[in-house]
Amino acid sequence: MTRRQKFIFVTGGVVSSLGKGLASASIGALLESRGLTVAPAKLDPYINVDPGTMNPFQHGEVFVTDDGTETDLDLGHYERFTNAVGSKKSNFTTGQVYDAVISRERRGGYLGGTVQVIPHITDEIKKRILNVDDTIDVVIVEIGGTVGDIESLPFLEAIRQLRNDLGKENSLFIHLTLVPFIKTADEMKTKPTQHSVRELREIGIQPDILLCRTERLLSSDLKDKIALFCNVDKDAVITAKDVDTIYEVPLLYHREGLDEKITKLLNIWARKPDLFKWEEIVDTIRNPKKEVDIAIVGKYVKLKDSYKSLNEALTHGGIANNARVNIRYVDSEDLEKGVEPPFDGIDGILVPGGFGDRGIEGKIRAIQYAREKKIPFFGLCLGMQLAVVEIARHLAGLQDAHSTEFNEGTASPVIYLIEEWIDRENKHQKRDRFSDKGATMRLGAYPCKLKTGSIAHKSYNTDMVHERHRHRYEFNMAFRKQLEACGMVVTGISPDEQFVEIIELKDHPWFLACQFHPEFKSKPFSPHALFREFIKAALKPKQEKQRCRNK
Ligand code: GLN
Repeated sequence: MTRRQKFIFVTGGVVSSLGKGLASASIGALLESRGLTVAPAKLDPYINVDPGTMNPFQHGEVFVTDDGTETDLDLGHYERFTNAVGSKKSNFTTGQVYDAVISRERRGGYLGGTVQVIPHITDEIKKRILNVDDTIDVVIVEIGGTVGDIESLPFLEAIRQLRNDLGKENSLFIHLTLVPFIKTADEMKTKPTQHSVRELREIGIQPDILLCRTERLLSSDLKDKIALFCNVDKDAVITAKDVDTIYEVPLLYHREGLDEKITKLLNIWARKPDLFKWEEIVDTIRNPKKEVDIAIVGKYVKLKDSYKSLNEALTHGGIANNARVNIRYVDSEDLEKGVEPPFDGIDGILVPGGFGDRGIEGKIRAIQYAREKKIPFFGLCLGMQLAVVEIARHLAGLQDAHSTEFNEGTASPVIYLIEEWIDRENKHQKRDRFSDKGATMRLGAYPCKLKTGSIAHKSYNTDMVHERHRHRYEFNMAFRKQLEACGMVVTGISPDEQFVEIIELKDHPWFLACQFHPEFKSKPFSPHALFREFIKAALKPKQEKQRCRNK
C-alpha cells in the first residue's frame, strides 16, 4: 500500500485513567505547532454502538460533534487542543464494527465464507481507521481500554496489521504507561511498565515510544533501565509527569523531546514548534489577577468527568477575564432536603444539562435563589428547561408547571416533546415517549438567530450562531406570550421560529439560559462568548466591593 499519510497509534497499559486522550490531544497540539495537520480517531472496545445511552457516572460526559455524533469525551480534548473537527468518522466502537459486519453478512456480502474476527472484524476496523480523513498529515488513533483487556484484542490486532500494511515510516506505536512511586521503598518502579510492554509484544506490537506517567521526573538511570527492558531507544522514554494544569502537557512533552522523536521516527520534515501561545496560557492560568467562585448545581457532581467540557469552558471563561475560576459542586439532591442553599460567597450559579428526575426540584430551587438574589445565572440545556419551569411557577403563577419529561400530566407543560420535526440533515423525524433511546435526540449544530440588544447578541457580537444540541424536550411555544409578559425574553430562536434556543430575564444583572451546549465549542485559545461574559458578570460585584474597600 502506498500512502503518504502517517498514523500514530496510542495504547494504554497498567491501569485505566492515565489520560490517554489528553496525551493524544497533546501530541496533536505539538504536531500542529510544527505546521502539520492532524485528525483524531478514538476506537472504543465496548459493545454499545455509541456512548449516547451510557450513564455519565460510568463513562463521563458524552461529547457531541457538529455533525451530531455522540462521542467519547476524548474527542473534546482533541477539539480543545487542536484545530481538528470531530465527526462521525472520528469515533467508533466494537458495537458499530460488528453491526456493519453482521449487516453485510445478512446481505450476502460474505456468501459461502465463515465470518471471523480475523480477518473480517479486523478488516472492518482497518477500513474505518484508514477512512478517518485522508486530506490531513497525521491521524492520531487512540485505542480505548487497557492492554490486556479481552475486548481490545481485535483493535490491537488491526493496528498490528496496519503497521505492516503502511510501513514503518508511516506508522508509530506510542504506549502510555505508569511508573509508580512506592513511598515505603522511596523508589520508582518500572516493573508494571515492563509487564505491560511484554503483553503488547506478545501480540506482536513493539512500542516505539513510551509515555511514562509519574509523580516525579524519571532519572537518566531509570530511563536506561526502561529502555533496556522494553526494547526502546532511551530518548523514546518520555516522562509524563503530573502537572497542575492540563494545558501544560504539550510543553512538558516538548521539553522531553517527544515531538522531535516522533518526527524523526516518522521521517517527517517539520519546522521547530512555536509553543508561545501555550506558554502564555499556562502563565495566565497559574498567575491570574482575579478569582471567582462558581457553583455548579447538578447530580453528576461526584464524577468530575461528567462535566468535562463544562469545567474546561469555565476555565476558558476565566482565562478571558484573567481570573481563576473556583468551582463548587453542589449536589442538587441535597438542595431538596430543605437545607439553606450552600451559596455563601458564590459569585455565579450554573445549572448544567442532565437527564432523569433525580434532583430536579433542587435545581429549580437553585435557579429561584439566583433569580431572587440577583446572582449571575447560566443554564445549559436542562438548566434552561428548568429556568423556564421556575419562571412559569414563580413569576407566571403556573404552580404545577413542569417539563413533561418529569410530569407527563402537568396542566402547564412549558417544556414538552415535539413529536415531529425536521433534523439538521433535512430529514423528517418522528418519535414519542416510547421511541428508541439511541441517537433519537436533537443532535449536533443548529442555527440560532439572536435578538438585537440582548446579552446573547452583545456577547456573540453577531446575528446568527451555530451551537450543538443534545436533548429531546423543547420549550413549548404555547406559553411564550404568557412568560414574556412576566419578564422572560426569548433572545435566541431557530430561523423557522419553531425552537426557543436562548432565554434571558429582565431586571436581573445576568440571567441567561440556552437549550444548546455552548461548552462543547469553547477552546482555551478562543473562550466561548457566553462563558466569557458569564464569568465577567460574576466578577463584577466582587470588583465593585473591592473598589469600595479601596476608597
Ligand atoms: N433531559 C433533557 C432533554 O432530553 C435535557 C437534556 C440535556 O440537558 N442534555 O431534553
